[in-house]
Amino acid sequence: MPQLRVAVVGAGIAGLVLAAALRRAGIDCHVYEQAPHLTEVGAGVQLAPNATRLLHRLGLRDRLRAVAVAPGAIEMRRFDDATLLQRTPLGDVCHRRFGAPYYTVHRADLQAGLLSVVAADRVHLGARLVAVTQGGDEARLHLADGATVAADLVVGADGIHSVVREQIVTDAPRYSGQTIYRGLVPAHRVPFLLADPAVRLWFGPDKHVVSYPVSAGRQVSFGATVPAADWREESWTARGDPAALAAAYAGWHPDVTRLIAAADRVSRWALHDRDGINRLGAGRVVVIGDAAHPMLPFQAQGANQAVEDAVVLARCLAEAGPAGLAAAVRRYEEVRLPRVTELQRRSRANARTFHLGDGDAQRRRDTAAQLTSGLDQHEWLFAYDADHATTTVGSS
Ligand SMILES: Cc1cc2nc3c(=O)[nH]c(=O)nc-3n(C[C@H](O)[C@H](O)[C@H](O)COP(=O)(O)OP(=O)(O)OC[C@H]3O[C@@H](n4cnc5c(N)ncnc54)[C@H](O)[C@@H]3O)c2cc1C
Repeated sequence: MPQLRVAVVGAGIAGLVLAAALRRAGIDCHVYEQAPHLTEVGAGVQLAPNATRLLHRLGLRDRLRAVAVAPGAIEMRRFDDATLLQRTPLGDVCHRRFGAPYYTVHRADLQAGLLSVVAADRVHLGARLVAVTQGGDEARLHLADGATVAADLVVGADGIHSVVREQIVTDAPRYSGQTIYRGLVPAHRVPFLLADPAVRLWFGPDKHVVSYPVSAGRQVSFGATVPAADWREESWTARGDPAALAAAYAGWHPDVTRLIAAADRVSRWALHDRDGINRLGAGRVVVIGDAAHPMLPFQAQGANQAVEDAVVLARCLAEAGPAGLAAAVRRYEEVRLPRVTELQRRSRANARTFHLGDGDAQRRRDTAAQLTSGLDQHEWLFAYDADHATTTVGSS
């Protein structure tokens, strides 16, 4: 039986997890990444049990335990007096219930872990895709240096500005009107946030802040939204102005203003969105992660869903075998679309509810938040096991 040739575009979380999952399934793949070096910078990411159980099985259990933090709870508070609106227990309670931890990690630590479980000679750096063509019984990558690569299947893991996605749909990222400042603060500067390590959110009119410890508790990562009509820069490394950020949050609770003041540097990022699509593949091309379903970060699930996508796609390919490529892509789409569409919807809805000004709608939100404290509301999200989804989703 001939080996399937899989070409993955992008070595972000989606692309690297796919490379690891395909390797586990005995399927060879090559990853083409535009960046000359893989250096994830300055930001944290929340990993929920729906992703950590998969990362553990791919060989990252010990590595994650060493570098991550297992926060005790997610706490949502008011922006001015820090009244607690909702507390979701995490820590051991969450770990026991879902059989996997909720972690907060530095992106660079996650990336280093993923690189340790993929074959280094399969990741090609400085390889920027400019076009994909399909014809006969193969697809072709056309790289910026003039090289072409033939494959049985091209997987677009190339993020929100995906070139591969153009094979499936003609659309473009849409600026959300929100920017997010991100910073990392040495833990000793914000001890008031570390006595009880948690994911903390503060909601106020037009804005919110989220913070959590990373790097085994040595640093605190935060993100603070600021609406802006005219900011278009989209890069983890675009410099933000700490003074402008501090001014935007003047009058917020001292826990927020002291956290922001403790950051020497901040980055600023324009948040983009795209509408959902009803196909994730076309011919010999398929998309995963942000290339498939970018979502505003207000549900903290974009990376988690990228991990799930990659595991499901690898399973579909392994189960269908080289002769069943089209069926594998259809099955991947069938398994993944309902879930990622719902998460895109919820992320967008949170963009409104997180930023309500004081009034009736805000009071209704706060009452609902108190009534839905606890882990039950997360059961559908955290209990999902992508390793079994190909046999359980839609097969009854
Ligand atoms: C502020 C913020 C906070 C977030 N917080 C969380 C969180 O807490 N939890 C969570 O789950 N998610 C979070 N997310 C979402 C998460 O970051 C993304 O969903 C995730 O990084 C998507 O991974 P990806 O691999 O699909 O895409 P990306 O990370 O964008 O990776 C795409 C890769 O493809 C490469 N590439 C792009 N174009 C080309 C090309 N033409 N040729 C070759 N290579 C190319 C890029 O260089 C990059 O390496 C957050 C997002 C933001 C903006």
